[in-house]
Amino acid sequence: MRISRREFSRLGALGVAAGLVPRGMAHGWAQAAAPWAGPKVGYCVIGLGRIADHFMRGVKGSSTSTITGLVSGHREKAERIAAEYGVPRSSIYSYEDMDRMRENKAIDAVYVALPNSMHAEYTIRSAKAGKQVLCEKPMSTSVKDAKAMIAACEQAKVLLMIAYRLHYEPTTRRAIKLVRGGALGQVQSMVSANGFNESAGEWRLDKALSGGGPLLDVGIYCLNAMRYLTGEEPAKFSGYVSTIDKDGRFATVEENTSWVMQFPSGIQASCTTTYGAQMPGFYRVYGAKGWLQVDEFGYEGLRLTAEYRGDAGPVKLDELNTEKDPEQFVRQVDHFSECIRTGRTPDTPGEEGLRDMEYMQDIYRSAGVVALV
Ligand code: NAD
Repeated sequence: MRISRREFSRLGALGVAAGLVPRGMAHGWAQAAAPWAGPKVGYCVIGLGRIADHFMRGVKGSSTSTITGLVSGHREKAERIAAEYGVPRSSIYSYEDMDRMRENKAIDAVYVALPNSMHAEYTIRSAKAGKQVLCEKPMSTSVKDAKAMIAACEQAKVLLMIAYRLHYEPTTRRAIKLVRGGALGQVQSMVSANGFNESAGEWRLDKALSGGGPLLDVGIYCLNAMRYLTGEEPAKFSGYVSTIDKDGRFATVEENTSWVMQFPSGIQASCTTTYGAQMPGFYRVYGAKGWLQVDEFGYEGLRLTAEYRGDAGPVKLDELNTEKDPEQFVRQVDHFSECIRTGRTPDTPGEEGLRDMEYMQDIYRSAGVVALV
């Protein structure tokens, strides 16, 4: 438990009753949140770009959380969003003066939605301001930064959660339950892909802001999925990077990354990612009794299909999650707010983000690239 006694008592005094949720839950995938009692958890959003919009709409749909602050370099845009979400103008900060939020009691937590290389600085500054931190993936652009983020949050006694939204999404949870529960028999092999055709001029193509190519941005979904599906940590990697298009987009980051990894049980996974082609996200798991596939890592429309030999005969599944965006973001923020309320460690803490950083470093290293150091 990393929340400070003082902070815990403060939340308790606000009517946020500790102990409503059973403690010692194993990974909370199957758990429903306890009914929310007391005031909402106030979030300050740092960076008002595309994903922040999804997050804020999710918060609006949540009964546990509310937007109470904004950090932006564009005052006019921030004022427009503040009016929409009922944030007082006095709770709009610039990147330079956001440390003042320390004094703002309406802000309990921050959501860091900036380009990757800025995650470390803004997580650490927020922790020093005494705020709980929900930070976007990838956690950082180096293993060293990821460790510093964890240390800063520990020192400030605030929680750190990485926004791996799919851990809180029902189709993903169902796939995990089926695979780990043995429906497919012994898993042997998995494949996964996720990529898109990135436009020139995007910060994702500038290594100083992104830290690397599609692996950090969208390949990370494949990597993380292979880990949550097996419940194992990969032990061996064989990676490749390439750049085919010489149109100027890939001056600082690579265009393609593919890798094979092997888990301690012997399960093998082959994954690929690109910034040079539309590559709809999916994974497929092959076991001794059958296979399971989930299509899309997106904000809605995840679809699970499977065919396997069940105890009572053949099973064929075709399940579409009809929840609409921003429901995933409601689930994600509800989880973190519940953690803040109870002091429970999030299901996707800083350590989860750090592991992916280390594995991505291993993938690059095996491709002969020194990266994410
Ligand atoms: P974006 O470009 O839409 O937004 C970035 C924000 O950062 C903007 O408000 C921009 O003004 C601000 N910013 C501050 N300094 C900047 C600088 N020097 N250069 C560029 N922008 C700067 O990006 P996004 O797609 O919202 O991605 C933000 C983060 O969220 C990234 O880390 C990304 O990996 C992550 N992300 C996560 C998901 C998810 O599903 N969890 C989806 C998309 C993005």
